[in-house]
Amino acid sequence: MLLFAPNELVNLECRTALTPASVRKLKGLGIEVRIEAGLGGAADFPDELFLAEGAEKIGRDEGLKSADLVFCVNPLASDEIRMMKRGAMLIGFLEPFHVHLEDGEAPVDTPAKARMDAMLEAGITGVSVEMMPRTTLAQKMDAISSQANLAGYVAVVLAAERLNKIFPMMMTPSGTISPAKVFVIGVGVAGLQAIATAKRLGARVTAFDTREEALEQAESLGAKALRIDLGETGSTDQGYAKELTPEQLEIQRAAQGKVCAESDVVICTAKLFGRKAPLLVKADVVASMAHGSIIVDLAAETGGNVEGVVAGKEVVTGNGVRIIGHAKLENFVPRDASGMFANNLSNFIEHFWDKETSSFKHDDEDPILKGAVLTRDGKFVNEHPAFKK
Ligand code: NAD
Repeated sequence: MLLFAPNELVNLECRTALTPASVRKLKGLGIEVRIEAGLGGAADFPDELFLAEGAEKIGRDEGLKSADLVFCVNPLASDEIRMMKRGAMLIGFLEPFHVHLEDGEAPVDTPAKARMDAMLEAGITGVSVEMMPRTTLAQKMDAISSQANLAGYVAVVLAAERLNKIFPMMMTPSGTISPAKVFVIGVGVAGLQAIATAKRLGARVTAFDTREEALEQAESLGAKALRIDLGETGSTDQGYAKELTPEQLEIQRAAQGKVCAESDVVICTAKLFGRKAPLLVKADVVASMAHGSIIVDLAAETGGNVEGVVAGKEVVTGNGVRIIGHAKLENFVPRDASGMFANNLSNFIEHFWDKETSSFKHDDEDPILKGAVLTRDGKFVNEHPAFKK
């Protein structure tokens, strides 16, 4: 079995899908590993470290054409997918949804559709890490969680660096400094890490989520939970929040506006799986915040939780509020983000590895494969309801 990891071509992407440590693990399974020159450069893994673990360097086209298995962070372009061998496996964030669209409707012609068509035509086994089921068994392969956890940490560190005041309380002869007030909206994986990081830095943290269990987790980390009576909310069988009705969203926005206005930092992490993110902080609330306050919107790429956020940018509003909309904040810590992501991919391969035949063992009934595999043998095989729209 030949594995190839090409360089990431997406602008500002610093992560890599393979690290020297994961080369060692995969070689231990009997897999031959090839990399494109410069693969881990942006994450500070020079080529020599890969070569020292037994990987070989190969040109991009040749690598794609010869590989049985291709590891990527971002999806390959459709023309490169078509270069791959029939029956080969492509695994990474394959972005199967179309959430970048304004209205969230399934589109007719997009790069995502072109990639899907290419995987079908080329007979590629497309494994989308976004679709990995959120079960205990699949936790070690859950790249959404591994990256969101780091993004939550970075959100707080960035906010602390940009904020005009310190996070902890300080009592000194020169005066007493009150702790920074941080409000975390959305207490999933990223939100919990944001709470933990802000608490470690000494901030006073308030948190809100539509799921009661998330609020209890926030409290166990020392945050104050904001409870808003929204009527029936709940979550899906995968632990994701159900979308609120427009009326519920209105109640939420009204109830949390005052907390935003009194906060030095607001961190928004509320996403909806495969859908456009809900708008949670409108311009009037941003306008009510103090000069110099910071908002970090982790949902910027999928429409944003905050009115006025610009994906990939930091903007300062007329009243001096800085809205940080950098996408994929885990890219600020690419060494750890790559380490976690590469572990997720190599754990997936190891989990299904058949030592007798030295090959990946497919099982159409396996819940992890049923969840994560999109295409196989020229057919779209994923039954997730999100694809049935
Ligand atoms: P996510 O990134 O999709 O959303 C982030 C958070 O935003 C979620 O907690 C969600 O409830 C919240 N949210 C949605 N709409 C909101 C709104 N209007 N206002 C406030 N908050 C809102 O979710 P995630 O972090 O990827 O995961 C969510 C949950 O999935 C986790 O907390 C956990 O319970 C579960 N999970 C389970 C496993 C596992 O069992 N292996 C692994 C990871 C996550």
